Formats: sequence, structure tokens, C-alpha cells
Amino acid sequence: MTKDTPLPAEGFSFRLLGTVGQARAGTFQTPHGPVHTPAFMPVGTQGTVKTLTPDEVEALGASMILANTYHLFLRPGHELVGDLGGLHQFMRWNGPILTDSGGFQVFSLARINKIQDEGVTFQSHIDGSSHFFTPEGVVEIQRALSADVIMAFDQGPPGGADRRTVEEANRRTLLWLERCRDRFLSLEDEISTPAQTLFPVLQGNVFDDLRLQQARDVLRLGDWAGLAIGGLSVGEAKEDMWRTLEVMDSALPSGTPRYLMGVGYPDDLLRAVARGCDLFDCVAPTRNARHGTAWSEAEGQVNLRHARFKRDTHPVDPACDCYTCQRFDRAYLRHLAVANEWLGHRLLTIHNLRFLVSLAERARARIIDGSFASWSRDWLTRYEGARSPSA
Ligand SMILES: [Zn+2]
Repeated sequence: MTKDTPLPAEGFSFRLLGTVGQARAGTFQTPHGPVHTPAFMPVGTQGTVKTLTPDEVEALGASMILANTYHLFLRPGHELVGDLGGLHQFMRWNGPILTDSGGFQVFSLARINKIQDEGVTFQSHIDGSSHFFTPEGVVEIQRALSADVIMAFDQGPPGGADRRTVEEANRRTLLWLERCRDRFLSLEDEISTPAQTLFPVLQGNVFDDLRLQQARDVLRLGDWAGLAIGGLSVGEAKEDMWRTLEVMDSALPSGTPRYLMGVGYPDDLLRAVARGCDLFDCVAPTRNARHGTAWSEAEGQVNLRHARFKRDTHPVDPACDCYTCQRFDRAYLRHLAVANEWLGHRLLTIHNLRFLVSLAERARARIIDGSFASWSRDWLTRYEGARSPSA
């Protein structure tokens, strides 16, 4: 198969509405509705954005969410989810969903037994049971889960990996992509499959020439409805990440949405938007919430467990329009965090997610009206300049 064999992408399109430098505002259309980009996608690891109902996630302004193939494969099992009508039906989320390939979790959570070109043998982190992921199998699992966007199986070396390791991972990622694509296309012929599209993952760590080569190779393999940039935010220096994104911007087609995997924190998100990325996901807002940590535009990242918030009657972030900030003060949220109360986890999850969703919304508006460069510079100065000593 060649580039002449386009990937079926019915129901998927991307329209650019404006640019400022490399920053882009657009609309990514999916069968379950539009995603206005730049957009932050809350992570629903186990088919749930931790502690929130789907209605609450929707009320945050989130349009697309992410679920994890590795976790849902192990529990409750993709076949069960498929039998029950797929993820949208199972978790009662009617908006767009993206599933990752499971690759990241296999390489980070599970105990790896063997990595070969054929696939990866690993042991579940839950019960130690042994499993074998192949590119074809990962596509089949994601077919059963029925997310709108599914991801190709890839191998991403950790930050600091040497050139030889990255070259080998790039070679394997490309080989696996071709097999994912072929399995995806053959499954398209089955009548009952839902409308889905397959995103490849671009690897190459922080080696500019390997990134460019990987981009060329991946683009040769199909007319993709979207591209994922993997292998960043994995422990490399921040300057290396920014340079890599700038290098990739020149190598990727402008009319295709770009999903930067695993980013980010608010300041990282804004800097990545400035370098041409459109879609983002990260567990930080939900995970931080469970540790009592929240973001504030004027104070950066703060840990509400700190004693200095004991009598603080201000909202977490006076500039935030979320339910938590409209209703509660820091003194109460600190109490909930210290007492490890469930409501505290919920309220800070609402705030942290809204903080990122809203940041992406405002970046979009500023790109469209042309004021993104000065606005983002001011925002970053404020956020990073006043960073709390307790953060
Ligand atoms: Zn808030």
C-alpha cells in the first residue's frame, strides 16, 4: 500500500481558522462532534475522568476525552466494552473520544518480558498475568473500544536515550505503523465497525534528523487525519522539547491536526501551542488534584495543604470561572485536602481541568484575533513570575 491508498476518514476533517506565527486555531471535526483547537483533552484512564460525571466534564467545556487502551484491555476487557456498545455507550460520553495504543503503559507500568518486532510480551501490573500486544491486536482492541480516534502502536524511548536506541525504536515504530494501518484498513471492510480514524505516533526523541526522517517516513504511509507527536515530556530538557517541536512544525503538513502526547502543565501547553500543536492530554490536572495541588494564574502551582492557606478566604484562582472557584475558598479546600476528603479531590479536579480547558480556549480566541503573541507572553510572565515558594 502507498500514499495513494488513503485512510478512510469519513466524518473527520480539520479546518484552520487562523494562525499567529506557528500557533494555530482550528476545528477538528469527528463523528461525535467538533473539537475546537487548541484543546486540552481530560484523561479518563479507566473510562472515567476520575471523580467526575460525564455531565461535569462537559460543563468544564471539554469536548474530547482520552481513555487508556492498556487499562481497559486488562479491566473490564475490550470485548466486554465492545459487546456493551463501545466506550461512548459504556461510559455515557457522547462527545469525541481518543484511545491511546497502550504502548506507553506497557513500557512504563507493566513488567516487560520481551520486545520483538512481532510484538511485546508483558505482565499485568494488576495481577501479573502475561499478555502479548501486537500492532494488529492493539488496533483490534481499539476497534472494540470504538473511540473516534485510535492510536498506532509505537515504541518511545525515555528521555536521555542514546541515538542507537532511538534509531531502533523509530524503525520498529514505522514497521508497527504499517501493520496497524493494514489491520485498520482490513477491519474497515467489516460492516459493523464504527467510524474511526488512526493517528500515527511520530517518535525520534530529541534528535532533529531522526525526527525529520520519521516524519517523512510516516507521511509516506498514508493520508492521516491527524498526527501524534510522542516521545516528548519524558524527562528530556525543556529546551530540547521546544526545539524539537519547532523542527517538527516545518516537517508536518499544516492542514492536519497535531496531538502532543502527555503535555501538559499550563505553561508547557501555552509554549507548545506557540510551536504549532493543537491537541493535548495530561494526567497532571487530575493527579495533582488528588494531592491537594492547584493552579492559579497569578500564583502558579500551589499546594493547598500548606498552612498559609488555613484562613485564606479567597478562591483558588480569582480569575477562574469554574464551579469550585465560584463557590469555595482556600481555607475550606485546604481542610478537605488535609483530611483527604473525596469532595476535595472532586473540587480541585474541576478547577484544574477547567484551568487548562479555559487556557486553551483563550489561546484559541487570541490566535483568531491576532493577539496571541503578546497575550501568551504576558500570561507566562504572570504565571511563572509569581510562582509560590511552597509550590
Ligand atoms: Zn477554578
